Amino acid sequence: MGVLGVCLKICGWFPVVFITAVIIWSYYAYVVELCIFILVGKSIPLMLLYLVLYHVFLVMFLWVYWRTIWTPVAKVPDEFYLTSSELQQYEAEDRNEEKIEILKSLARDKRLPIWTRTYGGGMRYCHICKLIKPDRCHHCSMCNVCILKMDHHCPWVNNCVCYSNYKFFVLFLFYTILYCFYVAITVLPFFIQFWEGDLGDRAARKFQIVFLFFAAVMFCLSVVILMCMHTHLTLTNRSTLESFRAPVFRHGPDKEGFSRGSFSNNFKEIFGDQKRYWLLPIFTSKGDGVSYPVQARDQDSDRLLDGDVESDIGSGLENEDRGAGKKGMRESIKTSTTYSTMEASGVAEGGTGNHATVHMDQGEGAQVNLAIESDSRR
Ligand SMILES: [Zn+2]
Ligand SMILES: [Zn+2]
Repeated sequence: MGVLGVCLKICGWFPVVFITAVIIWSYYAYVVELCIFILVGKSIPLMLLYLVLYHVFLVMFLWVYWRTIWTPVAKVPDEFYLTSSELQQYEAEDRNEEKIEILKSLARDKRLPIWTRTYGGGMRYCHICKLIKPDRCHHCSMCNVCILKMDHHCPWVNNCVCYSNYKFFVLFLFYTILYCFYVAITVLPFFIQFWEGDLGDRAARKFQIVFLFFAAVMFCLSVVILMCMHTHLTLTNRSTLESFRAPVFRHGPDKEGFSRGSFSNNFKEIFGDQKRYWLLPIFTSKGDGVSYPVQARDQDSDRLLDGDVESDIGSGLENEDRGAGKKGMRESIKTSTTYSTMEASGVAEGGTGNHATVHMDQGEGAQVNLAIESDSRR
């Protein structure tokens, strides 16, 4: 890393330092100026109530903020990277079509669980990391690495928001709103007293209260907008990047492609099934960040063959790879045991069944589609 890289890395922490400074100042203004200097002369029980609730919201806010910042980003597993010999073969090839064929072949041989492709129909490949991108994975130019289910790179936490910390990020927005709302609502009576001239003589204290109220309202309103957006994304199982640029499936670009059929199921994909963990920054998201259940139409279920793996990649000839049976397929979809079947909602998924098929269509460009049909479907 050069000098410029080090400078950029240091600069990346400025927004976090700014937020931390605002928190420290708000702590002083609320606890010292409001609770200790103003409230103590008015009502001790009210002061204690203010202080207890304030610290509950503050601790939850700091906990989720810490987890969002320091949770390591979800990186791509080794099998998606090209080995040195594969890379040599890939880079030695000049023709684009042949490069695509090489990637297709690698994806097929390694049984990578990939459903999406580029807008041009090719394999999604990162030329910087030298890997075949898993579904929902994107290269972050700030982190300079491919990130699983990348949502966006957030300067306020100086970290990529992705598969491993998306729940923490949504909770961070939620607790920021709670913290700011609580501060604003409890400071409001004293803010009114300021305008009525009942807040004592000390100008510095009066302005601390006024600024505290304005800062709380301002942060609350701006984060509410962001929270509305991420609530919508959570309930539709979409990342920010996918909401701007739809992932491309067999049937074309589709923002709903990873939806689990209902708001409730989409919410549980990120927050998990157990309600007691929903409000805590403990990782409970489903899956492994690599393979995702997709809409049933992408599985082309009419072409499923019992226990067979079918391939129509490359020259148009059908090459059946019967050696790759359901056992290998199960292994290739690592999330299989964490997902249950959702036949009614039209979403099919891997894991509970005993039936596997791979499709690689030349017509659609380079792609690998994996599907497992559940017992109940057959
Ligand atoms: Zn990359
Ligand atoms: Zn990043």
